[in-house]
Amino acid sequence: MEQYKMFINGEWTGEKLDTIEVKNPATGEVVATIPNGGSSEAKLAVDAAHAAFGDWSAYSVYERSELIRKWYDLINENMEDLAVAMTTEQGKPLKEATGEMSYANGFLSWYAEEGKRIYGETIPATQRNKRLFVSKQPVGVVAVITPWNFPAAMITRKVAPALAAGCTVVIKPAELTPITALKLAELSEQAGIPKGVINVVTGEAQEIGEAWLEDDRVRKFTFTGSTAVGKLLMKGSAETVKKISLELGGHAPVIVLADADLDKAVDGVISSKFRNAGQTCVCSNRVYVHESIYEQFIDRLIPKVKQLKVGNGLDEGTDIGPLINQSAVKKVQAHIDDAIKLGAKLETGGTSKELFVEPTVLSNINDNMLCMQEETFGPVMPISSFKTTEEAIQRANDSIYGLAAYVFTENISQGIRVVEALEYGIIGLNDGLPSTPQAPFGGFKQSGLGREGGHFGIEEFLEIKYISLGL
Ligand code: ADP
Repeated sequence: MEQYKMFINGEWTGEKLDTIEVKNPATGEVVATIPNGGSSEAKLAVDAAHAAFGDWSAYSVYERSELIRKWYDLINENMEDLAVAMTTEQGKPLKEATGEMSYANGFLSWYAEEGKRIYGETIPATQRNKRLFVSKQPVGVVAVITPWNFPAAMITRKVAPALAAGCTVVIKPAELTPITALKLAELSEQAGIPKGVINVVTGEAQEIGEAWLEDDRVRKFTFTGSTAVGKLLMKGSAETVKKISLELGGHAPVIVLADADLDKAVDGVISSKFRNAGQTCVCSNRVYVHESIYEQFIDRLIPKVKQLKVGNGLDEGTDIGPLINQSAVKKVQAHIDDAIKLGAKLETGGTSKELFVEPTVLSNINDNMLCMQEETFGPVMPISSFKTTEEAIQRANDSIYGLAAYVFTENISQGIRVVEALEYGIIGLNDGLPSTPQAPFGGFKQSGLGREGGHFGIEEFLEIKYISLGL
């Protein structure tokens, strides 16, 4: 069992503090401990990030890019070790952990280049003797709080654009999956990223969060996690008027229209639903299939779902790992039990053992069931039929969330009409896996604020400065 330390101002520290245990969800075994830091460590991290900001923001973007690129190369060289660490603390199958590492690293390579394209503008003036310019500058110290479902990607998706823009960061990874984050920080140190530019604090979430919210030197908060905590951070940011980006909950609908290619739809729904055992905010949560192909869709789906192998993510051939903890299993089981009580038919799955939940498909679904109202965050797929496209759109939009939605149809004109009517920030049209570093990720409604990824993502870390020059 390894004892990890925090990373503040280029030092590995926190060995005198109490510790928090990190467990492998597949075995229950304690695999590591981390220091249980609080407000003083949070403040020390801001001191370091604030002190480092002057130099780091003055580097040319080409110098910053080179260091980010070195970090990327080191992550590539250590991919296997990182993926094993991730599976061990998070549970996802090793092939998915490797996939996440490569997705996560994609943000570093992409933003190492995008930093070079932070362009300004000139604006025609009204008077002959004036010249108007716009330039962009880093916002300053950024606080980064991340969840346990993507221990690497949620960090790089925020930190890569922040660093490329010239910001310095203080990071609090999820207490359930801090090891991947600490290993990434180790590699950033080896890459030569200067001390204080990246700081990782582990420990009491609320205390650390509050210390950063109160600190006027923190100019931006970027958070991925639950809607409840996102709202707290949004309120807390008001005190010092921080910029804020939020990636919160989702409740993704899938609409399978009558003319969908059934194989494409079945495969798309399976990959979107069962990735990370259903624990992603863009996982499809409810499936609406046109009544004319409803039976056929289920018949093709079930044998494929039954083939999915549940087990320890480190074992060869595992498709679905354990859920993160007991309360996640309890919630998923409650959604299954509630649906069955209200008349759903259990097509496959339905049971759980320890933290492992069988991939579950439920039909005969109605919109009053919990699984159609709340984010399940587990391997449960409720399928309902619809008569008209308008009905499907209305039911899909009937949610406080608006993160991801999926549409399957071979009639692209019809598909585009549905896409335009959906109140969602990310749409997979005949695609179950739309996320990629160069595209914007983010939600409408209570799913969040701002966008990560692509050229949109770097804007979140930049201030606009307007300069009016009198000749
Ligand atoms: P999840 O349900 O995915 O665990 P949370 O929103 O609880 O979502 O957690 C996401 C991240 O937010 C984690 O790093 C967690 O430690 C952190 N967090 C939880 N509560 C707070 C809080 N009150 N202030 C700041 N961060 C918090």
